[in-house]
Amino acid sequence: MRKISLSFNRKDFEYDVYSLIRAFEPGCEIVTWYEEEQEPEQVNETWDRCRVHYEPDGISFSIRWGNEPVREAQVPVEYEKDRVHTKNVLKQLVYRTLSEVTGKQLPWGDLTGIRPTKIPMKLLEEGWKNTEIAEYMRNTYFTSPQKTALAITIANRERAILEPVNYENGYSLYVGIPFCPSICLYCSFGSHVLGRWSHMVEPYLEALFRELRFISEQMKDYTLDTVYIGGGTPTTLTPDQMRRLLTVLSEEFPLEQVQEFTVEAGRPDTITREILEVLREFPVSRISINPQTMNQETLDIIGRRHTVEETVEKFHMARELGFDNINMDLIVGLPGEDKEKVAHTLKEIEALNPDSLTVHSLALKRGTRLNLMKDQYEEISFENSAEIMDMTQDCARRMGMGPYYMYRQKNIAGNFENVGYSREGKAGIYNILIMEEKQSILAAGAGASTKFVFQNGERIERVENVKDLKNYVERIDEMIERKRKGIRMYLRNGK
Ligand code: SF4
Repeated sequence: MRKISLSFNRKDFEYDVYSLIRAFEPGCEIVTWYEEEQEPEQVNETWDRCRVHYEPDGISFSIRWGNEPVREAQVPVEYEKDRVHTKNVLKQLVYRTLSEVTGKQLPWGDLTGIRPTKIPMKLLEEGWKNTEIAEYMRNTYFTSPQKTALAITIANRERAILEPVNYENGYSLYVGIPFCPSICLYCSFGSHVLGRWSHMVEPYLEALFRELRFISEQMKDYTLDTVYIGGGTPTTLTPDQMRRLLTVLSEEFPLEQVQEFTVEAGRPDTITREILEVLREFPVSRISINPQTMNQETLDIIGRRHTVEETVEKFHMARELGFDNINMDLIVGLPGEDKEKVAHTLKEIEALNPDSLTVHSLALKRGTRLNLMKDQYEEISFENSAEIMDMTQDCARRMGMGPYYMYRQKNIAGNFENVGYSREGKAGIYNILIMEEKQSILAAGAGASTKFVFQNGERIERVENVKDLKNYVERIDEMIERKRKGIRMYLRNGK
């Protein structure tokens, strides 16, 4: 494993440089330090070294990489004046140098953030043409022609889909149900195994209903555009509990008017005819049934505890009951899954013919069981490649779908992205709103994060709920109070 010492002579843009080095050398160890401090003890002669120096007339970047001779390059920039420009210039300098020493080009160039479509979106809003945006992105961020085209295509589609959404006077609602039948190996959502926590479901719902009633009262002068019930797995609730939740929502919020109402059914092992029938009693317009993979051995490895047959059966059941907007989530890069296995999954998905498909690249996040136990899975390969990503894109095309939203994650397998594909009229509006950060999202439930968005997404403030179930239930008054303050301060300008 490559070990890199990264030093700065002032605290600025450390994380941008750090992320870029990581994008070139995934899995490397980086120690960041400031020159006014002592060099960390573990750094020795065998380590590679990168150094960022802010000087009165510009920024210099020097690097000693393996046995290569030391290189140093400098760019003139008045870094006190314009932060955005300075950041771009510094990242270009680091990218060019790393590209020279490693011989690599990155598909997303020097973009390390999770929302690359925000750039073309902003420029489209300013009236730029697609060709001008493409040229700007390639020259400024060194994005590949393919990724540039993907980002611009998605930004155009997002704009069209969001046209009827009122950013300023509208909002979306997220409701979290943090229970699952078992915990998937790669899960980073902090969900709770129902078998162990079933005694907490009722107290949780009581607290949640209070929070929802509070939001409804506070937001009555705003238009509710989309509702998303996620988690966890919302369909772990019993039919009676689900009916009570949906009754509270329909009594408190104008559900008939919302543009989209999604319930993440998620795990096929939680879906029953009864619970689907309950969803049909209410204006739920979109559900998600997530196979992740259609290979049984992989499902067993990742702890999903459901069968491929169950996924097929529950999908047909939902169709039979009249659901005409069903999303399916897939993960590529799962342990042991090569091209053939992904091809098998795609063939099965195509036969089911969902209305949208979301393709995630596996992310090895800190704290997940998969990351903690990765030594145990050493013999099992984690494969993702441009070819596999192209296969998923071709599959979506064959089903008549185009890309409509995307995001990148840290520690994602092969430095790829997550892409949502859909047919015309079947895109998940909430997904775009949360990614493009265009509208405020009021979020209820344990671990839910409310986002207040202003000035067309230029400014964002968050109000978080506690993650821990017991804490959430016991401190629900405090959660409500936090929201009250947030609404007053951010939505009503202190009124
Ligand atoms: S279904 Fe989703 S939330 Fe539940 S354990 Fe699996 S990844 Fe986590």
